[in-house]
Amino acid sequence: MNIILMGCPGAGKGTQAVKLQQMFHLHHISTGDVLRAEIASGSPLGKQIAAIIDKGNLVPDEMIISMLENSVKSTDKGIIFDGFPRTVAQAQALDEMMHRLHHRITHVVMIELPQEEAVRRITSRRQCKKCGEILHIDVKNPLTKCPVCGGELYARPDDTPARAKHRFDVYRQETLPVKNYYQSSGKYVEINGYQEPQKVFEDIEKSLKKNK
Ligand code: AMP
Repeated sequence: MNIILMGCPGAGKGTQAVKLQQMFHLHHISTGDVLRAEIASGSPLGKQIAAIIDKGNLVPDEMIISMLENSVKSTDKGIIFDGFPRTVAQAQALDEMMHRLHHRITHVVMIELPQEEAVRRITSRRQCKKCGEILHIDVKNPLTKCPVCGGELYARPDDTPARAKHRFDVYRQETLPVKNYYQSSGKYVEINGYQEPQKVFEDIEKSLKKNK
């Protein structure tokens, strides 16, 4: 099983990818996490990447594609691609790579969420520095520490309202055409993301089992 998880910024891809990874014993590739790890390493490449991500733009296709191949080759498990492909060129490169490595994409799952709710989720999103848990703070009950491990919480620099809006523009322009690319493939399903995360997960699980 090789799954592509799509959705607008804030749709809940990261949360669902972790649940799917655990349930189906998959190798999780989040291109956002790969890029953030490169930034955290402090390398010159990481500095270039930070400048792009912080503005809410996409990292060039060639950079993403070359970073991905080693990760795909490093596992014999099924893969869940989270946040990739984000352009039609990336989707075409993925098809070519999977074909060359004698693999194939089996499912494309699109998590649908209205923009207003997505922006609300993005701007309230906090992540634990220690365990990576993703949380949403509430004005009435602001969290200062991670409720799972007590670690420090931080807001991603690209999660401000202005950057979130720009990321939506980029999403509409660059990533929505990827939906058309897969829609007629027979592997594509849409899931309502405007529900509790557990219910979203159950809907994804059902659709994966139905389209085995
Ligand atoms: P994410 O964690 O998936 O929300 O990604 C955070 C940011 O990383 C995005 O806003 C982009 O700047 C960059 N990024 C992640 N995945 C990709 C991709 N497949 N192609 C280009 N840029 C990406």
